[in-house]
Amino acid sequence: MFVKAITLYFVGMPLKFSFVTAQTAIDYRNTIIICAEDDQGNYGYGEVVSFDTPFYTKETNKISWNVLKKYLIPAVLGKTFNNEHALHEIITMFNTAHRDTPMAVAGLENALLHVMAARNQYNTVEYCMKQPLQNTIPMGVVAGDMPLSQLLSFVEYHVSHYCTRIKIKITPYDGYEKVCAVRKRFPDIDLAVDANRSYAPQDIDKIAQFNTLNLICIEEPFKVHSINDYIELKRNYHWRVTTPLCFDETILTLSDLIEGAQHNIIDVMNIKVGRLGGLYQTKQIIQFCRDHNIRYWIGSMLESSISKLLHVQLAALGDSYMAGDLSDSKRYFYADLTHPAIEFIKGRMKVPCGVGLGAVVDIEELNKLSQYTEVFHSN
Ligand SMILES: [Mg+2]
Repeated sequence: MFVKAITLYFVGMPLKFSFVTAQTAIDYRNTIIICAEDDQGNYGYGEVVSFDTPFYTKETNKISWNVLKKYLIPAVLGKTFNNEHALHEIITMFNTAHRDTPMAVAGLENALLHVMAARNQYNTVEYCMKQPLQNTIPMGVVAGDMPLSQLLSFVEYHVSHYCTRIKIKITPYDGYEKVCAVRKRFPDIDLAVDANRSYAPQDIDKIAQFNTLNLICIEEPFKVHSINDYIELKRNYHWRVTTPLCFDETILTLSDLIEGAQHNIIDVMNIKVGRLGGLYQTKQIIQFCRDHNIRYWIGSMLESSISKLLHVQLAALGDSYMAGDLSDSKRYFYADLTHPAIEFIKGRMKVPCGVGLGAVVDIEELNKLSQYTEVFHSN
């Protein structure tokens, strides 16, 4: 596969509502789409899921764009990759050299893998993971931080529309009270919470309060910077949290995961292709979880279907701990970037497992939503 050209699109997708977490509120999703083209006229698409500001990880879309332009694209443009191993090699090198920008690496990897899949007529995820996908997956809905009455109506609506797994974004301000009320009204649903690192370590008692609510997991409760901070936290505070602890933005690499596992800190892993530096790295992380009795499930960013479809397919591997953060495209966006878009019927989605993404990129919509583009050609 000769990499002939790469195009970067800076795309703005207006949201139907303001999505609020402990760290930020998002009304408009700016994202980077990468299109790679080979010498036979095959195209592949990937998405860089970094945000405008560094609230989630340090990588912003401005940083991603610059790293792609300066380092990653020049390293692959005009090169020939004879097989997936050659591509794997360079992506592994990127993930080591550009550890702080896994989302840029993942976006480029996804685009190149997609071209390779188009050339060889296979599904990207199925091929990378080397295992067949299940036919359908269940829906999982994420509730942003919202007033209690609105939250109860939100959960009521989704449960009545066949969703049996809800994840609630919480803050130290009123997280416990809200989740208590939801659990009381819906005693049987799979309920998880995500604090996005908003509770101070000394708030450990507030996190222990959730022990009695039969949560499937509590995601990123503490305000920390690294997995080492968790190790310190567990050492210095009396650990009385019994809800399974789930990791998201604190773990960016396999070595972070190994470090946490060695100290017995990680119960559950939230898998996101962008945060983890691409599908190859994701595959290794899922394998490590399987080998070390760590439960994993598939998360999702606020992202277009170009990235989300990979997560839909990963959620079909068959041994996820719970339903993923995966719901209809139309819940967030007026229009998405693939045909078909992501849609669940009566709480389940038929997993698209055709060539590449399993869906066709809507070029017209991509061009319509693009604010600017930059094209790189091989010499
Ligand atoms: Mg999270």
